[in-house]
Amino acid sequence: MGELKNTFSWSFSAAADFDQCRRRRYWSKYGMWGGWGRNASTEQKTAYRLCKMDNRWGLMGQAAENAVMWVLKQHQLGKAADADAAWNTIARPFLTKKWNESNEGFWRTQPKQFCCLREHYYKTMEDENGAKRQIAAQIQNCIANFIGKVLPRIGSIQPNQEFRIATPDTGGDVEHFIYEGVKIYSIPDYAYRIGDQIHIHDWKAGKIKAEQHRLQLSLYALWAIVKHGAKLENIFLYVEYLNEGQVLPFQLSETEMEEAKVRMGTSVGEMTEYLEDFDREKNVPLPKDEWELTDDPQNCTQCNFYELCKAELAVRD
Ligand code: SF4
Repeated sequence: MGELKNTFSWSFSAAADFDQCRRRRYWSKYGMWGGWGRNASTEQKTAYRLCKMDNRWGLMGQAAENAVMWVLKQHQLGKAADADAAWNTIARPFLTKKWNESNEGFWRTQPKQFCCLREHYYKTMEDENGAKRQIAAQIQNCIANFIGKVLPRIGSIQPNQEFRIATPDTGGDVEHFIYEGVKIYSIPDYAYRIGDQIHIHDWKAGKIKAEQHRLQLSLYALWAIVKHGAKLENIFLYVEYLNEGQVLPFQLSETEMEEAKVRMGTSVGEMTEYLEDFDREKNVPLPKDEWELTDDPQNCTQCNFYELCKAELAVRD
């Protein structure tokens, strides 16, 4: 196999990282690159390992998503699936496996294969059993709301109407499209066609953040246009707040779509300023020191890469 190339790319979450802290984007895109190799430096290996780290809220979202998609698939097969079955068959075993992996520590040598929770790594979880109970209750509530409020709306969709979305679990490169020469990662949770219409749903197991989520789904609309030839007026977007049992359904106007493209273009431009010769094709980062540490210490308390920054942060403070 040829040598992997670190291609310039943009995503909603990459932009959020970059906005919060330039250094975080450096670690997650450039500092970690090659960190899986035997001859990598200690810093590269550490950045790669920390980059793969998860956290309890991320696990909660994955478990809820796996469970509701299982319910949907069971429904499509004509099999009844209640919230208890989805919890016991899908969500609970998933959480138990990941939580045990995090405690067992095999992620130290195989960070891609085994889960490491940030809360375990940085010892920030005071009441582990309480945290587990809270996550379990929230996921069960999400599944119940999905069955009661979402499934009646989408239960008639058939598998041949659904888009196959490439995720990290399906292997290979994850879902993306090329826009104005830039690789854009965009991974909708669930999308399907009804005639000329494309409907895109995003499952949210956490809090309502309507403005941020509208922006995120604007990117999915662009995915539908660029990759699947949809017309904007035929794209229907839904943020499904599973814990609250609420949905934010919307369509984008041409103006809103243009604003989203401008915002994306601005972010791509700002990231390009941190590359040698502003050259996205070469995609060689400026030296690490040029990627500023965040000004807000609060950002560091929620950051996987704290271990790599703490000495520099201590000197600065
Ligand atoms: S620990 Fe703080 S400074 Fe370092 S990458 Fe994270 S947010 Fe940025």
